[in-house]
Amino acid sequence: MFNGERPFVSGREPKIEDCMWSATGGQKPDYVRLSSRETCDVLIIGGGFNGVTAGLYCAEKGAKALLVEAQDIGSGASGRNAGQVNPGQFLSPEAIQKALGPDYGPRFLKDLGNAPNLVRDMISKHGIECFADERPIVRCATTAAKTRDLEKQTSDWQALGANVEMVYGSTLEEMNGSTRYKAALIDYRGFTLQPLAYVRGLARVAVSKGLRIAVGSKVTSLEFENGRWKAKTGSTTIIADKVILSTNAYSDDLVPGFKEEIMPLGAFGIATADPLPQEWRERILPHYIAMWDTHKIPLWFRYDPEGRLHVGSIGFLPLHAEGDRWVTRAMKFVFPSAPQFKWGYRWSGTIGQTVDRLPHLVEPRPGILATIGCNGRGIAPNTYFGTMLAKMALGETVETPLPVRTPTKYPLRQMALEAYDVGIRVYRNSLLFR
Ligand SMILES: Cc1cc2nc3c(=O)[nH]c(=O)nc-3n(C[C@H](O)[C@H](O)[C@H](O)COP(=O)(O)OP(=O)(O)OC[C@H]3O[C@@H](n4cnc5c(N)ncnc54)[C@H](O)[C@@H]3O)c2cc1C
Repeated sequence: MFNGERPFVSGREPKIEDCMWSATGGQKPDYVRLSSRETCDVLIIGGGFNGVTAGLYCAEKGAKALLVEAQDIGSGASGRNAGQVNPGQFLSPEAIQKALGPDYGPRFLKDLGNAPNLVRDMISKHGIECFADERPIVRCATTAAKTRDLEKQTSDWQALGANVEMVYGSTLEEMNGSTRYKAALIDYRGFTLQPLAYVRGLARVAVSKGLRIAVGSKVTSLEFENGRWKAKTGSTTIIADKVILSTNAYSDDLVPGFKEEIMPLGAFGIATADPLPQEWRERILPHYIAMWDTHKIPLWFRYDPEGRLHVGSIGFLPLHAEGDRWVTRAMKFVFPSAPQFKWGYRWSGTIGQTVDRLPHLVEPRPGILATIGCNGRGIAPNTYFGTMLAKMALGETVETPLPVRTPTKYPLRQMALEAYDVGIRVYRNSLLFR
């Protein structure tokens, strides 16, 4: 490992309380204390968007479901992300069709393209207080070539009926307050929310409908015995018919081979200690849009519900002095007139990257279902996938947008991880701010 300081996968990241979203994350759900022996129809391991939506669906259907989470609800990527509810994926519609073929491709485009609406439905149906904000997500081009890429994506999506458009020059500058970018794709299908409040809100609804949630309960073994699954957490044995493995990028060796499906990629966030003064909110992202760009390692900016400014990017970043120096450079690069702000929150999280940049639907052992690898697009997809996995676990017929596969190792995983880490640091420190 080249960078001994990098936070690495679950348990070595700063605690969720260091994350800006904890300031406005809302109430936690009521948790249960596990007895020495528990039985359930469906055991859900992991309490992010995926696990919680799976649990909510099971509870609504009257199934006996138990969700166990190693740390706390939302303490994985679900409580640490940028809150951009993006439709679709990083790949273009054309690349998705090509990768998934004529059966899965169109279904994937339709279902995942519509996934932000599923999030909207969840929020309105259950009255979840998560600061959902309908202003669109803006992706800014960093070069002329990237502008052409975004224009192509825009026309491909428009051909599929999607509400997207390009904006240029002064129109863009007026929207984001930056002279750095000359063109951007505006995606009206997307919106923003407070991710920790969303996942906690979903969990509170699920609990009110009968889901039992235990936190601080890391599952340490999972074995098939007498036709059922037997899981161990602490001194508790859990017997379940089906298991939904919602551990995603935080997967460990619980199910051998599963975590190797992805490469765990770090991402970090830094935010001002306090809401920005009004005069600066009028100059930096004056329309309160969420913005990210097309750099190899994208920069992203947005406000939290109280007006703290959040800046983030990809890679593992030592979280103190170096992080503050980096964020100062990022601000000068994108908003040259910005003064030195006081940064008060620094955190990181882990993204699951797959080799084909698409999420994978995996059945690592018969009776264990999972999706893994959202490549940094997980809010809407995991709201969709959690519900889908619950339907599958309950024996409903589901037309999945992905083929079911057994775990396949990310090629040269460790080498790829180290190469990414070095590449990102070189880029971040020398090439990004040119
Ligand atoms: C910094 C950052 C920014 C991002 N920005 C965006 C964004 O703007 N928009 C977007 O759509 N996506 C974004 N993402 C991606 C998104 O956050 C994830 O795809 C999504 O949260 C994954 O949800 P999940 O439920 O699958 O997994 P997670 O939320 O990661 O949950 C997995 C859980 O499993 C638990 N767990 C692991 N092992 C065990 C075990 N053995 N026993 C019990 N529990 C266990 C972990 O503690 C963890 O809580 C971002 C990610 C990061 C890190």
